[in-house]
Amino acid sequence: MSSSKIDILSLTENEIKEIITAPPYSQPSYRAKQIFEWLHRGAKFDEMSNLPLSLRAQLKETCIIKTPEIERKLVSTDKTIKYLFRLYDGEHVESVLMDYEYGKTICVSSQVGCRMGCRFCASTLSGKVRDLSASEILGQVLAAQKDINKNANTKAGTRISGVVMMGIGEPLDNFDETVRFLELLSAPGGLNIGLRHVSVSTCGIVPRIYELAQLELPITLSISLHAATDAKRNKIMPINRRYGIDELLLACRDYFDKTGRRISFECALIEGENDTISDADTLATLLKQYMGSNGERPFHVNLIPLNKVRETGLSGSGSASVRTFASALNARGINATVRRKLGSDIDAACGQLRIAAEQMAKKERAKIYDNRKK
Ligand code: SAH
Repeated sequence: MSSSKIDILSLTENEIKEIITAPPYSQPSYRAKQIFEWLHRGAKFDEMSNLPLSLRAQLKETCIIKTPEIERKLVSTDKTIKYLFRLYDGEHVESVLMDYEYGKTICVSSQVGCRMGCRFCASTLSGKVRDLSASEILGQVLAAQKDINKNANTKAGTRISGVVMMGIGEPLDNFDETVRFLELLSAPGGLNIGLRHVSVSTCGIVPRIYELAQLELPITLSISLHAATDAKRNKIMPINRRYGIDELLLACRDYFDKTGRRISFECALIEGENDTISDADTLATLLKQYMGSNGERPFHVNLIPLNKVRETGLSGSGSASVRTFASALNARGINATVRRKLGSDIDAACGQLRIAAEQMAKKERAKIYDNRKK
Protein backbone atom coordinates (compact mmCIF):
# COMPACT_ATOMS: atom_id res chain seq x y z
CA MET A 1 0.00 0.00 0.00
CA SER A 2 2.39 2.64 1.29
CA SER A 3 5.25 1.56 -0.99
CA SER A 4 3.55 3.03 -4.04
CA LYS A 5 3.03 6.36 -2.27
CA ILE A 6 5.51 9.21 -2.51
CA ASP A 7 7.77 9.47 0.55
CA ILE A 8 7.28 13.22 0.62
CA LEU A 9 9.25 14.00 3.80
CA SER A 10 12.37 12.61 2.09
CA LEU A 11 12.11 15.23 -0.67
CA THR A 12 13.84 18.60 -0.85
CA GLU A 13 11.74 21.70 -1.41
CA ASN A 14 12.81 21.77 -5.07
CA GLU A 15 11.85 18.15 -5.59
CA ILE A 16 8.43 18.84 -4.06
CA LYS A 17 8.13 21.81 -6.40
CA GLU A 18 8.86 19.65 -9.45
CA ILE A 19 6.17 17.19 -8.45
CA ILE A 20 3.38 19.52 -7.42
CA THR A 21 3.69 21.94 -10.30
CA ALA A 22 3.18 19.05 -12.75
CA PRO A 23 -0.05 17.10 -13.32
CA PRO A 24 -2.05 15.72 -11.62
CA TYR A 25 -1.41 18.41 -8.98
CA SER A 26 -0.67 21.39 -11.28
CA GLN A 27 -0.17 23.76 -8.36
CA PRO A 28 1.57 27.14 -8.28
CA SER A 29 5.19 26.74 -7.18
CA TYR A 30 4.79 28.65 -3.88
CA ARG A 31 2.81 25.69 -2.57
CA ALA A 32 6.06 23.69 -2.39
CA LYS A 33 7.46 26.07 0.22
CA GLN A 34 4.25 25.85 2.24
CA ILE A 35 4.19 22.06 2.11
CA PHE A 36 7.90 21.77 2.94
CA GLU A 37 7.55 24.09 5.94
CA TRP A 38 4.52 22.24 7.29
CA LEU A 39 6.20 18.87 6.90
CA HIS A 40 9.27 20.05 8.78
CA ARG A 41 7.15 21.28 11.65
CA GLY A 42 5.87 17.74 12.00
CA ALA A 43 2.41 18.49 10.56
CA LYS A 44 0.05 15.97 8.96
CA PHE A 45 -1.77 16.85 5.72
CA ASP A 46 -5.00 17.66 7.58
CA GLU A 47 -3.19 20.31 9.58
CA MET A 48 -1.80 22.20 6.57
CA SER A 49 -4.38 24.92 6.98
CA ASN A 50 -3.20 27.26 4.24
CA LEU A 51 -3.55 24.60 1.55
CA PRO A 52 -6.86 24.10 -0.30
CA LEU A 53 -8.84 21.16 1.05
CA SER A 54 -8.77 19.47 -2.33
CA LEU A 55 -4.96 19.58 -2.41
CA ARG A 56 -4.73 18.23 1.12
CA ALA A 57 -6.99 15.33 0.10
CA GLN A 58 -4.94 14.71 -3.04
CA LEU A 59 -1.66 14.69 -1.08
CA LYS A 60 -3.12 12.32 1.47
CA GLU A 61 -4.12 9.98 -1.31
CA THR A 62 -0.76 9.97 -3.09
CA CYS A 63 1.89 10.66 -0.41
CA ILE A 64 3.00 9.22 2.90
CA ILE A 65 4.65 11.14 5.75
CA LYS A 66 7.03 8.68 7.39
CA THR A 67 7.42 10.45 10.73
CA PRO A 68 7.76 7.74 13.39
CA GLU A 69 5.21 7.51 16.20
CA ILE A 70 6.32 7.58 19.83
CA GLU A 71 5.58 4.13 21.25
CA ARG A 72 7.39 4.52 24.58
CA LYS A 73 9.11 7.38 26.28
CA LEU A 74 11.45 7.17 29.27
CA VAL A 75 12.51 10.31 31.11
CA SER A 76 15.66 10.26 33.24
CA THR A 77 16.27 12.24 36.40
CA ASP A 78 18.96 14.15 34.45
CA LYS A 79 16.30 15.11 31.86
CA THR A 80 17.57 12.74 29.18
CA ILE A 81 14.62 11.34 27.23
CA LYS A 82 14.72 8.02 25.46
CA TYR A 83 12.13 7.41 22.75
CA LEU A 84 11.10 4.08 21.29
CA PHE A 85 9.64 4.90 17.88
CA ARG A 86 7.32 2.77 15.78
CA LEU A 87 7.86 3.11 12.04
CA TYR A 88 5.11 2.99 9.41
CA ASP A 89 5.68 -0.75 8.85
CA GLY A 90 5.69 -1.67 12.54
CA GLU A 91 9.50 -1.80 12.94
CA HIS A 92 11.14 0.04 15.83
CA VAL A 93 14.09 2.36 16.38
CA GLU A 94 15.31 4.48 19.29
CA SER A 95 16.43 8.05 19.80
CA VAL A 96 17.87 9.73 22.86
CA LEU A 97 17.39 13.42 23.57
CA MET A 98 20.13 14.86 25.76
CA ASP A 99 19.88 18.06 27.71
CA TYR A 100 23.23 19.86 27.76
CA GLU A 101 23.90 23.31 29.20
CA TYR A 102 24.40 24.64 25.71
CA GLY A 103 21.25 23.08 24.27
CA LYS A 104 19.42 19.93 23.37
CA THR A 105 21.10 17.30 21.22
CA ILE A 106 19.37 14.26 19.82
CA CYS A 107 20.97 10.92 19.03
CA VAL A 108 19.19 9.32 16.06
CA SER A 109 19.12 5.87 14.46
CA SER A 110 19.96 5.29 10.81
CA GLN A 111 18.90 1.65 10.30
CA VAL A 112 16.58 -0.92 11.85
CA GLY A 113 19.22 -3.12 13.46
CA CYS A 114 22.78 -3.22 12.16
CA ARG A 115 24.93 -5.71 10.25
CA MET A 116 28.33 -4.55 11.53
CA GLY A 117 28.49 -7.14 14.32
CA CYS A 118 30.47 -5.17 16.95
CA ARG A 119 30.77 -7.51 19.92
CA PHE A 120 29.80 -4.97 22.59
CA CYS A 121 26.79 -3.43 20.85
CA ALA A 122 23.12 -4.22 21.50
CA SER A 123 21.96 -2.85 18.13
CA THR A 124 23.59 -5.55 16.06
CA LEU A 125 22.58 -8.63 18.04
CA SER A 126 19.99 -9.78 15.53
CA GLY A 127 21.43 -8.19 12.41
CA LYS A 128 20.01 -5.57 10.08
CA VAL A 129 16.33 -5.55 9.16
CA ARG A 130 16.34 -2.59 6.79
CA ASP A 131 17.69 0.89 6.12
CA LEU A 132 15.81 3.96 7.29
CA SER A 133 14.73 6.50 4.71
CA ALA A 134 15.92 10.09 5.10
CA SER A 135 12.37 10.94 6.23
CA GLU A 136 12.50 8.33 8.98
CA ILE A 137 15.82 9.67 10.26
CA LEU A 138 14.60 13.26 10.11
CA GLY A 139 11.23 12.19 11.52
CA GLN A 140 12.91 11.19 14.79
CA VAL A 141 14.11 14.77 15.23
CA LEU A 142 10.73 16.21 14.23
CA ALA A 143 8.78 13.93 16.55
CA ALA A 144 11.05 14.70 19.51
CA GLN A 145 10.92 18.44 18.76
CA LYS A 146 7.14 18.31 18.68
CA ASP A 147 7.04 16.29 21.86
CA ILE A 148 9.19 18.70 23.91
CA ASN A 149 7.22 21.67 22.66
CA LYS A 150 3.99 20.26 23.95
CA ASN A 151 5.56 19.39 27.30
CA ALA A 152 4.48 22.02 29.82
CA ASN A 153 7.83 21.89 31.62
CA THR A 154 9.75 22.95 28.55
CA LYS A 155 10.28 26.62 27.84
CA ALA A 156 8.21 27.55 24.83
CA GLY A 157 10.35 27.59 21.73
CA THR A 158 13.10 25.27 23.04
CA ARG A 159 14.80 24.00 19.92
CA ILE A 160 16.85 20.90 19.36
CA SER A 161 20.15 22.41 18.30
CA GLY A 162 22.41 19.42 17.72
CA VAL A 163 22.20 15.94 16.22
CA VAL A 164 24.47 12.93 16.56
CA MET A 165 24.07 9.88 14.35
CA MET A 166 25.03 7.44 17.08
CA GLY A 167 21.81 5.52 17.55
CA ILE A 168 20.96 2.15 16.01
CA GLY A 169 22.64 1.37 12.69
CA GLU A 170 25.68 2.34 10.68
CA PRO A 171 25.06 5.65 8.87
CA LEU A 172 27.72 5.03 6.22
CA ASP A 173 26.12 1.66 5.41
CA ASN A 174 23.05 3.75 4.50
CA PHE A 175 25.04 6.45 2.77
CA ASP A 176 22.59 8.09 0.37
CA GLU A 177 19.77 8.40 2.89
CA THR A 178 22.22 9.75 5.49
CA VAL A 179 23.45 12.46 3.12
CA ARG A 180 19.90 13.32 2.12
CA PHE A 181 18.93 13.51 5.80
CA LEU A 182 21.79 15.97 6.42
CA GLU A 183 20.57 18.13 3.54
CA LEU A 184 17.00 18.16 4.87
CA LEU A 185 18.06 18.77 8.46
CA SER A 186 19.99 21.89 7.52
CA ALA A 187 17.46 23.26 5.02
CA PRO A 188 16.50 26.88 5.81
CA GLY A 189 12.76 26.18 5.41
CA GLY A 190 13.04 23.20 7.75
CA LEU A 191 14.73 22.70 11.11
CA ASN A 192 17.72 24.66 9.81
CA ILE A 193 20.17 22.91 12.12
CA GLY A 194 23.70 23.90 11.12
CA LEU A 195 25.83 20.93 10.12
CA ARG A 196 28.55 22.18 12.47
CA HIS A 197 26.26 20.91 15.19
CA VAL A 198 25.96 17.46 13.68
CA SER A 199 28.17 14.39 14.20
CA VAL A 200 28.15 11.33 12.00
CA SER A 201 29.58 8.27 13.70
CA THR A 202 31.00 5.27 11.86
CA CYS A 203 32.66 1.99 12.73
CA GLY A 204 35.01 2.65 9.81
CA ILE A 205 33.67 1.89 6.32
CA VAL A 206 36.74 3.29 4.64
CA PRO A 207 35.55 3.86 1.03
CA ARG A 208 32.54 5.76 2.38
CA ILE A 209 34.76 8.01 4.47
CA TYR A 210 36.57 9.05 1.27
CA GLU A 211 33.22 9.58 -0.42
CA LEU A 212 31.92 11.67 2.46
CA ALA A 213 35.08 13.81 2.42
CA GLN A 214 34.35 14.71 -1.21
CA LEU A 215 31.08 16.32 -0.13
CA GLU A 216 32.94 18.69 2.20
CA LEU A 217 30.07 18.92 4.67
CA PRO A 218 30.93 20.82 7.86
CA ILE A 219 29.86 17.90 10.09
CA THR A 220 32.07 16.30 12.73
CA LEU A 221 33.15 12.82 11.77
CA SER A 222 33.26 10.48 14.68
CA ILE A 223 35.19 7.23 14.41
CA SER A 224 34.32 4.33 16.69
CA LEU A 225 37.85 3.14 17.22
CA HIS A 226 37.72 1.34 20.59
CA ALA A 227 41.06 -0.39 20.14
CA ALA A 228 44.44 0.73 18.84
CA THR A 229 45.87 -2.49 17.40
CA ASP A 230 44.45 -4.70 14.66
CA ALA A 231 44.72 -7.73 16.92
CA LYS A 232 42.47 -6.15 19.56
CA ARG A 233 40.15 -4.36 17.17
CA ASN A 234 39.62 -7.52 15.08
CA LYS A 235 38.36 -9.25 18.20
CA ILE A 236 35.63 -6.70 18.93
CA MET A 237 34.82 -5.13 15.54
CA PRO A 238 34.49 -7.41 12.47
CA ILE A 239 34.74 -4.39 10.11
CA ASN A 240 38.40 -4.16 11.09
CA ARG A 241 39.16 -7.41 9.25
CA ARG A 242 37.98 -5.69 6.08
CA TYR A 243 39.53 -2.26 6.68
CA GLY A 244 42.38 -2.34 9.17
CA ILE A 245 43.46 0.46 11.46
CA ASP A 246 46.14 1.82 9.13
CA GLU A 247 43.68 2.10 6.22
CA LEU A 248 41.13 3.71 8.52
CA LEU A 249 43.54 6.31 9.87
CA LEU A 250 44.73 7.15 6.35
CA ALA A 251 41.11 7.83 5.41
CA CYS A 252 40.75 10.04 8.49
CA ARG A 253 43.85 11.97 7.50
CA ASP A 254 42.39 12.53 4.04
CA TYR A 255 39.06 13.51 5.58
CA PHE A 256 40.63 16.21 7.69
CA ASP A 257 42.81 17.45 4.85
CA LYS A 258 39.76 17.82 2.57
CA THR A 259 37.28 19.26 5.05
CA GLY A 260 39.37 20.91 7.78
CA ARG A 261 36.96 19.43 10.30
CA ARG A 262 38.17 17.98 13.57
CA ILE A 263 37.80 14.22 13.89
CA SER A 264 36.73 12.60 17.08
CA PHE A 265 37.61 9.05 18.04
CA GLU A 266 35.25 7.16 20.27
CA CYS A 267 36.68 4.72 22.72
CA ALA A 268 34.35 2.67 24.90
CA LEU A 269 36.46 1.25 27.71
CA ILE A 270 35.80 -2.41 28.35
CA GLU A 271 37.02 -3.94 31.56
CA GLY A 272 40.06 -6.11 30.91
CA GLU A 273 39.96 -5.63 27.12
CA ASN A 274 41.22 -2.18 26.16
CA ASP A 275 41.49 -0.08 29.31
CA THR A 276 45.06 -0.33 30.63
CA ILE A 277 47.71 2.40 30.63
CA SER A 278 49.55 0.38 28.02
CA ASP A 279 46.41 0.52 25.81
CA ALA A 280 46.36 4.32 26.29
CA ASP A 281 50.02 4.47 25.29
CA THR A 282 49.43 2.46 22.13
CA LEU A 283 46.46 4.68 21.24
CA ALA A 284 48.46 7.87 21.76
CA THR A 285 51.32 6.56 19.60
CA LEU A 286 48.90 5.53 16.86
CA LEU A 287 47.05 8.84 16.68
CA LYS A 288 50.24 10.90 16.81
CA GLN A 289 51.49 9.03 13.77
CA TYR A 290 48.61 10.46 11.73
CA MET A 291 48.12 13.84 13.37
CA GLY A 292 51.18 15.35 11.73
CA SER A 293 54.46 16.22 13.42
CA ASN A 294 53.06 19.39 14.97
CA GLY A 295 49.60 17.97 15.59
CA GLU A 296 48.18 19.86 12.58
CA ARG A 297 45.23 17.52 12.52
CA PRO A 298 43.23 18.01 15.68
CA PHE A 299 42.20 14.49 16.59
CA HIS A 300 40.16 14.24 19.73
CA VAL A 301 39.40 11.18 21.86
CA ASN A 302 36.07 10.67 23.59
CA LEU A 303 36.13 8.11 26.36
CA ILE A 304 33.11 6.39 27.80
CA PRO A 305 32.86 3.35 30.02
CA LEU A 306 31.10 0.63 28.05
CA ASN A 307 27.40 0.34 28.78
CA LYS A 308 26.75 -3.16 29.93
CA VAL A 309 24.71 -5.18 27.47
CA ARG A 310 23.65 -8.39 29.14
CA GLU A 311 23.87 -10.49 25.98
CA THR A 312 27.52 -9.58 25.29
CA GLY A 313 29.04 -10.55 28.63
CA LEU A 314 31.28 -7.45 28.54
CA SER A 315 31.43 -4.84 31.30
CA GLY A 316 32.45 -1.21 31.35
CA SER A 317 35.65 -0.07 33.09
CA GLY A 318 35.31 1.64 36.47
CA SER A 319 35.39 5.42 36.59
CA ALA A 320 38.87 5.40 38.16
CA SER A 321 40.30 3.43 35.20
CA VAL A 322 38.56 5.77 32.76
CA ARG A 323 40.09 8.83 34.47
CA THR A 324 43.54 7.22 34.52
CA PHE A 325 43.20 6.37 30.83
CA ALA A 326 42.21 9.97 30.04
CA SER A 327 45.15 11.40 32.02
CA ALA A 328 47.54 9.02 30.27
CA LEU A 329 46.34 10.28 26.87
CA ASN A 330 46.46 13.92 27.94
CA ALA A 331 49.97 13.47 29.32
CA ARG A 332 51.03 12.25 25.87
CA GLY A 333 49.56 15.29 24.17
CA ILE A 334 46.30 13.72 23.03
CA ASN A 335 43.19 15.68 23.78
CA ALA A 336 40.80 13.33 25.56
CA THR A 337 37.54 13.93 27.36
CA VAL A 338 35.41 11.59 29.38
CA ARG A 339 31.89 11.71 28.06
CA ARG A 340 29.31 12.24 30.75
CA LYS A 341 27.07 9.22 30.99
CA LEU A 342 23.58 10.60 30.61
CA GLY A 343 20.36 8.81 31.35
CA SER A 344 21.97 5.83 33.04
CA ASP A 345 18.80 5.28 35.11
CA ILE A 346 16.60 4.86 32.00
CA ASP A 347 19.27 3.20 29.97
CA ALA A 348 20.62 0.11 29.02
CA ALA A 349 22.83 0.77 26.04
CA CYS A 350 21.28 1.96 22.84
CA GLY A 351 19.35 -0.72 21.04
CA GLN A 352 17.97 -2.38 24.12
CA LEU A 353 14.49 -0.87 24.04
CA ARG A 354 14.14 -2.05 20.47
CA ILE A 355 15.23 -5.56 21.42
CA ALA A 356 12.67 -5.57 24.22
CA ALA A 357 9.95 -4.36 21.85
CA GLU A 358 10.81 -6.99 19.24
CA GLN A 359 10.85 -9.73 21.87
CA MET A 360 7.45 -8.63 23.10
CA ALA A 361 6.11 -8.60 19.55
CA LYS A 362 7.56 -12.08 19.00
CA LYS A 363 5.85 -13.35 22.15
CA GLU A 364 2.57 -11.78 20.99
CA ARG A 365 2.93 -13.45 17.59
CA ALA A 366 3.71 -16.78 19.27
CA LYS A 367 0.61 -16.39 21.44
CA ILE A 368 -1.56 -15.75 18.40
CA TYR A 369 0.01 -18.75 16.68
CA ASP A 370 -0.59 -20.95 19.76
CA ASN A 371 -4.19 -19.82 20.00
CA ARG A 372 -4.68 -20.63 16.33
CA LYS A 373 -3.32 -24.14 16.87
CA LYS A 374 -5.68 -24.73 19.78
N1 SAH B 1 27.49 2.41 13.71
C1 SAH B 1 27.97 3.69 14.12
C2 SAH B 1 27.00 4.50 14.94
C3 SAH B 1 26.17 3.80 15.95
S1 SAH B 1 26.99 3.23 17.40
C4 SAH B 1 29.28 3.54 14.85
O1 SAH B 1 29.74 2.41 15.00
O2 SAH B 1 29.88 4.53 15.20
C5 SAH B 1 27.31 4.72 18.26
C6 SAH B 1 28.45 4.61 19.24
O3 SAH B 1 28.08 3.84 20.38
C7 SAH B 1 29.67 3.96 18.65
O4 SAH B 1 30.82 4.63 19.05
C8 SAH B 1 29.58 2.59 19.26
O5 SAH B 1 30.79 1.93 19.18
C9 SAH B 1 29.10 2.91 20.64
N2 SAH B 1 28.58 1.79 21.40
C10 SAH B 1 27.92 0.71 20.95
N3 SAH B 1 27.61 -0.11 21.97
C11 SAH B 1 28.08 0.48 23.08
C12 SAH B 1 28.07 0.12 24.45
N4 SAH B 1 27.53 -1.00 24.87
N5 SAH B 1 28.64 1.00 25.33
C13 SAH B 1 29.20 2.15 24.91
N6 SAH B 1 29.24 2.53 23.64
C14 SAH B 1 28.69 1.70 22.73
